[in-house]
Amino acid sequence: MSTPELERIAATLGKFHFPKKFAIELTAECNLACTMCHHPFMKRPKGTLPFELWQKCADEIAAVAPKTEVWFSFCGEPFLEPELLFRCMDYGRSVGLKSLNINTNGMLVTPDLHDDLLNCGAHLIVFGIDGFKKASFEKYRVNADRDVVYDNAERLLARRDELGSALAIQTQFIVMDENEDEVEQYKAHWLARNAVVKVRRQLSWGGQLETGLGISQDDRIPCPWAITMMHVFWDGRVPRCSGDTEGEDFHGNAWHDSLTSLWARLGQYRDIHLARDYDNLPERCHTCTDWMTGAAERLRPNSQDVPVEPTWQRLNVVQSS
Ligand code: SF4
Ligand code: SF4
Repeated sequence: MSTPELERIAATLGKFHFPKKFAIELTAECNLACTMCHHPFMKRPKGTLPFELWQKCADEIAAVAPKTEVWFSFCGEPFLEPELLFRCMDYGRSVGLKSLNINTNGMLVTPDLHDDLLNCGAHLIVFGIDGFKKASFEKYRVNADRDVVYDNAERLLARRDELGSALAIQTQFIVMDENEDEVEQYKAHWLARNAVVKVRRQLSWGGQLETGLGISQDDRIPCPWAITMMHVFWDGRVPRCSGDTEGEDFHGNAWHDSLTSLWARLGQYRDIHLARDYDNLPERCHTCTDWMTGAAERLRPNSQDVPVEPTWQRLNVVQSS
């Protein structure tokens, strides 16, 4: 990625009074153990989001900024709890939220759930599918079956189009060493099935994973994740940013504090980023490369390519699945 592309993202960042994107962890459990994810070595307790916590958050988002992009995962697979997921969606819709989004590994998005999914109020579902060939896909998506995931996503696309549902369906490809030669085949496959295709770089998750992204620190920009996005773990704790996957640097709890006040508390870090005073960022930011990954290529079927978009506009890459 060149400096102009990063600076184009940086130009979209500023002081936001409320997060542009909000991720709430429906469950911290997962059925996979992907190699590019921090979940396989996650130490914090795993549990499931109490519906009442979502209600509290949804009510505030609806009152303050109903267009906020809401995501129902941070670290975990939401379709392990499909009834809760659909209930949360329905509640979000009932209070007027305008952007309800799901990120999934796709293994459990089976056809028996498709009609409920298409009717639950979701605006977008993203399938994390990092490969076209079975060998590379299953190397990275450990415990997944490439053919099951492809079948689930293809059948959902067909059912969506059959019913004329407005649900946006996207497949997301994380480029890594052993799948990079499959990108063109992948694009053609999914565009032909009426999916939006997104191709993105790998996250380091706060510097925990080696990504091989060769971008110089001299080209550093304010971290788009820190500036645009807020996360709430299933137990209500709020980490400093998406790189704080264990909540080692948590800044309060959504059970006890308003999202507005929690976001304000995190403002001290956003100010440092925006001032480009990088030496004074917390230690984790010095090894994390996720500030480099705020852009992606997006292709729409029968439409124009969208090579780079600012993270907070319509991009959906923070969640793990
Ligand atoms: S660069 Fe810093 S603020 Fe951004 S994700 Fe990494 S650790 Fe978090
Ligand atoms: S990337 Fe998603 S599906 Fe894979 S281990 Fe992480 S949370 Fe689970």
